[in-house]
Amino acid sequence: MKKLNIGLVGANGRMGREIADIISAHGGCDVSYSLSRDTKVNHEQAAKVDVWIDFSSPEALPEVLKIASRHKTPVVCGTTGFTKKEKTHLAKASKNIPVLWASNMSMGVAVLNEALKMFSSISNFDFQIEEFHHIRKKDKPSGTAITLQESLEKAVGKKCPEPLAIRGGGIFGVHKVHAMSEEEVITFEHSALNRTVFAKGAVTAALWLAKQKKPGLYQIRDVLFGK
Ligand code: NAD
Repeated sequence: MKKLNIGLVGANGRMGREIADIISAHGGCDVSYSLSRDTKVNHEQAAKVDVWIDFSSPEALPEVLKIASRHKTPVVCGTTGFTKKEKTHLAKASKNIPVLWASNMSMGVAVLNEALKMFSSISNFDFQIEEFHHIRKKDKPSGTAITLQESLEKAVGKKCPEPLAIRGGGIFGVHKVHAMSEEEVITFEHSALNRTVFAKGAVTAALWLAKQKKPGLYQIRDVLFGK
């Protein structure tokens, strides 16, 4: 069977290297083309890519979407720190190609995000999200905390206080969602034990997205629960 050609953006970064390891261990796909900060795009090679995985920086996004749209190739993007501008860019590109953006590629966080819907039945509680990450993380609060906050506010139908962001040591990512009343506290917690969880999720999402025929803006939850 033909192996899937993956184009990797940010290949030299922490996540890029982890993703390349997962791909080389997989057997069903290969990194056929890597794009780093100073690479000049080779369109002959870009045309052979079946699906892109981008874990780089917000500045890379316009070029990645331009190349992918030109060759009608799906894009899985895990970059965080996006403003409204980049999110609009993703939405525009998704009119022509399948695009899956997730601030957290772990299946566990996808489940946590769904679980927040349960809080609609106790929307009178007070809510607070907390996140912990390694000291080198550039964005604050994390993209995951922002996504969780959006799901939480949608579920409980009110604004909640901004997520608390703590930076220290080598923590891969801990997210806690507290629901508090005068009588009880419920906390949903997710811990990433290593970076591999995100890399595995990104590769799983890429293999899934490559099969999606319709353009659109997909989410990691769609890989688990369907669009
Ligand atoms: P990193 O700084 O180690 O790596 C980023 C890489 O992207 C570097 O090699 C850099 O040279 C490259 N890059 C930057 N701008 C580029 C451009 N314009 N074109 C091509 N390459 C470019 O960072 P990291 O820890 O690997 O994280 C990368 C991104 O992924 C961050 O936004 C981070 O928050 C995000 N992230 C997402 C998840 C998730 O599950 N969605 C998990 C971890 C990290």
